[in-house]
Amino acid sequence: MLKKFALVLFTILFIVSPALSAEPEVAKLAEGVYGFIGKEGATNSGFVVTDEGVIVIDTQGPKGLALLLKKRIQEITDKPVLYVINTHFHGDHTFGNQYFKEAKEIIAHENTKKNLIEKDKEHRQQFERFFGERSLEGFELTLPTKTLRATLTLKAGSKTIELVYPGKGHTDGDIIVYLPDERVLFGGDLLYKDRLPWLGDAYLSDWIETLDKLKAFDAGVYVPGHGGVGNFNMLLNFQKYLIDLRSEVKRYIKMGKSVDEIKKEINLPEYKNWSKYNDWLPLNTEKAYRELTEK
Ligand SMILES: [Zn+2]
Repeated sequence: MLKKFALVLFTILFIVSPALSAEPEVAKLAEGVYGFIGKEGATNSGFVVTDEGVIVIDTQGPKGLALLLKKRIQEITDKPVLYVINTHFHGDHTFGNQYFKEAKEIIAHENTKKNLIEKDKEHRQQFERFFGERSLEGFELTLPTKTLRATLTLKAGSKTIELVYPGKGHTDGDIIVYLPDERVLFGGDLLYKDRLPWLGDAYLSDWIETLDKLKAFDAGVYVPGHGGVGNFNMLLNFQKYLIDLRSEVKRYIKMGKSVDEIKKEINLPEYKNWSKYNDWLPLNTEKAYRELTEK
């Protein structure tokens, strides 16, 4: 009997624990400032707790993760959600908006709202390919209610939160969220740590320049859209990846190679340990090739 019980327990633990260990973790980054950090490069969110209420940065995509984010916030504070910020339009950062409707405003760059509307159909299909066929059951598109073009400063309680559009990059509407007093910068998907980026909607060369602009912010903590919390070196390493990708593809083009040949032959050993290296290097290569040959 005991043996059977132990076996059942073992089976339950074995089945349940990978799911549990894959849950995002809350990281306190400064007083009142938290990261909700996905495991193994899964999507990150953040939240800022003030006397007036909570500011949520990216609402996750799948319902389970959006509700988990909400639960983790409620474990820390009973203040209501004041604002939601979407760093860019991708569903893994915005499709949880519907679970934070009590917010006074959902804030994003104007192109983020535009992309959510105009790319809705293909965007949902892409989300389902990534998160599974039934991942959008019960989903209602919940759009930003306030948009910005360049900058917007929010004041809540004693906190100052600056939203800045530094230029095209991962999409044409990425904003960063910067807390000057706490020196924390949420980079959205303009920053990745130890993981290859998704370039499906990206502007590779603009992105490299946009990252130069990010260097001007005085921050000690950088939260990427995917990967663990980092520092200024993360920004440099990630920018170097984009530069290396572009110059390597350029080198192959000069050798007269076709895009298919380059996809097969390209090798960036410095980044071999980054997640998605095998999956996304060919896609990254194709994007770089297209940009380099279209100009
Ligand atoms: Zn993204």
